[in-house]
Amino acid sequence: MSRSDIRERLQLRPVINVAGTMTYLGSSIVVPEAIEAMNQILPEFVEMADLQRHASKVISRLTGSEAGFITTSCASGISMAVAGCMTGDDLLAIEKLPHYRGGKNEVIVQAGHLVNFGAPVEQAIRLTGAEVVSIGQATSCAPYQFEGAITERTAAAVYVISHHAVHYGQLPLPLFCEIAHRHGVPVIVDAASEYDLRRFLAEGADIVLYSGHKFLGGPTSGIVAGHKDRVRHAWLQNRGLARGMKVGKENIIGALAALEAWEKRDHQGIRLREKQILQLWENGLAGRVGVSVSQEADPTDNPLDRCKIALNPELARITAWDFAAELAAGSPPIIVRDHLVEHGYLYLDPCNLHPEEEHIVLKRIIEVLDQAANAPTARVTSWQERVASKQKALLQWPD
Ligand SMILES: *Cc1c(COP(=O)(O)O)cnc(C)c1O
Repeated sequence: MSRSDIRERLQLRPVINVAGTMTYLGSSIVVPEAIEAMNQILPEFVEMADLQRHASKVISRLTGSEAGFITTSCASGISMAVAGCMTGDDLLAIEKLPHYRGGKNEVIVQAGHLVNFGAPVEQAIRLTGAEVVSIGQATSCAPYQFEGAITERTAAAVYVISHHAVHYGQLPLPLFCEIAHRHGVPVIVDAASEYDLRRFLAEGADIVLYSGHKFLGGPTSGIVAGHKDRVRHAWLQNRGLARGMKVGKENIIGALAALEAWEKRDHQGIRLREKQILQLWENGLAGRVGVSVSQEADPTDNPLDRCKIALNPELARITAWDFAAELAAGSPPIIVRDHLVEHGYLYLDPCNLHPEEEHIVLKRIIEVLDQAANAPTARVTSWQERVASKQKALLQWPD
């Protein structure tokens, strides 16, 4: 059976993902080790606390943490870690959230870190009943602004690593941790999409959170790692607000298998293959009128590069957003990385391709560019129209 059979049977479009690890596309290609492990555990019973004890050992080995556990997503990890900083091991307080008003209920975040990863990071914090105290302004935050915001009600400070976060003017993590710790405030790092499993704890974080279904290629899951007490307090939230975020045995096992596979993965070989794909695209598109192609490093320093395609709509006769829409609507549908498309460029991410798909991508791109170049009228819809129609489409689901 070919891997696209189930999509055909369900009449789902066989999308090719050059957007990155995106929840709306099914995140990532789950590694065979994880699929195998999930199949093995699914028909069995297991004592879940013991399974999470095992997870703790695996996570500690890979991250350098004292302890860890698997949850259902990085987003739930944020809520659980914050809740743990509010309740400690007070079992009654855990059951009372989000209405427990007993103690510390403020969480400090730099304004430039209040991103939306599909939902607002702020909401993952507020879900616990905590209030978010935003410090600094979008593009700047100074030590005095952090120190001045710390009160006896401060439960934690959250630090977000994301391509969506503002990339200048923010406090560096080691300084952020130093200030927080001087006042006894724990630091929670959202590192959902980061490859480096050790760096943020090494830089002082008390808890770090990763997605299991992004670069790791695990099933839908989140990894919580850090100091033992903090991790325990987060884990105890399974008896409270995290019940609705319950992680199954298969996703715990699958995430651990993906973590262990990550340890053994041929990272250099994969990087080399990705570089070859980028070169193929760059060569294939070089010299086209109104199109400039380059390679760009990942903005959060993950060891990966992407192909950047900038379009001059006067010369290419199509805007970057119309180009992205055309690729998405075509056959096969190709979904590009388009969060900066209003600036006239988009990216192709090489990390989630099956073998040979890079050629299909290049062929379709050339077809769409040729069609645009030869069409009687240029394809230029207004940006405001596109913004409005995106929201309209959202509100029409499921019909
Ligand atoms: C993807 C992402 C999340 C959410 O991760 P999930 O595991 O899908 O919940 C949170 N924060 C950042 C910075 C992300 O990129």
